[in-house]
Amino acid sequence: MRAYKALCAARIGVSRPDPEGSLVLRRRLSYNNTKERRTSNVAQLYFRYSTMNAGKSLELIKVAYNYEERGKRVLVLIPDIDNRGGVGRVVSRTGIKRDAFPFHEEANLLTLFLAENEKEEISCVLIDEGQFLKKHHVQELTEIVDSCDTPVMVYGLKNDFRNELFEGSYYLLVYADKIEEIKTICWCGRKATMVARVADGKFVKAGEQIVVGGNNMYVSLCRKHYNDGRLGDEKTRPAER
Ligand SMILES: [Zn+2]
Repeated sequence: MRAYKALCAARIGVSRPDPEGSLVLRRRLSYNNTKERRTSNVAQLYFRYSTMNAGKSLELIKVAYNYEERGKRVLVLIPDIDNRGGVGRVVSRTGIKRDAFPFHEEANLLTLFLAENEKEEISCVLIDEGQFLKKHHVQELTEIVDSCDTPVMVYGLKNDFRNELFEGSYYLLVYADKIEEIKTICWCGRKATMVARVADGKFVKAGEQIVVGGNNMYVSLCRKHYNDGRLGDEKTRPAER
């Protein structure tokens, strides 16, 4: 497997760091060489989405643990836009956490993967806060799956607090092989499908898409209670929009 992944790196033409210190990716599409093409291709790109506080980070940590328990290495990545747990850390609200590689919005995830895979074979790539991925990141992840036959599991939100797709979520929905929902519930007991942003106890529906905040800044709601703006079951609470 390790030899094959080295072959994969050579085949897609990833260079070593240049003298300037930057990594340059040169794709050399030579997939028509059937001798090099792998016959088994079981790896897939997963997008596991949910609203806030559904346990995505905890699920990621659990999957990582399961791989490592079997002596396999995982590469855990997180966009460096999310620094709630300190840069480079996946943090579940249960308090369970683990280290992760932070990456910048311009980082090439295929290059990063290949460099790490050279040091020690990676069996699975896990990414938290996948909604913050850029289009090129998602496309690089498809190369990790398709050319290097390594599964990639991305955890993240689908829609933002205005009910628009994040860029990362949009392209994950487009490119993922498997799209799976991690469910949680609204205060009323229905499935929560939307995320409300709350400021000073008020429901807000306008503003910048990305404002990274703690658990108390976002509330997961069902569609009905997102639409009528009720954040809780207090009978006296006026609808807040
Ligand atoms: Zn509800």
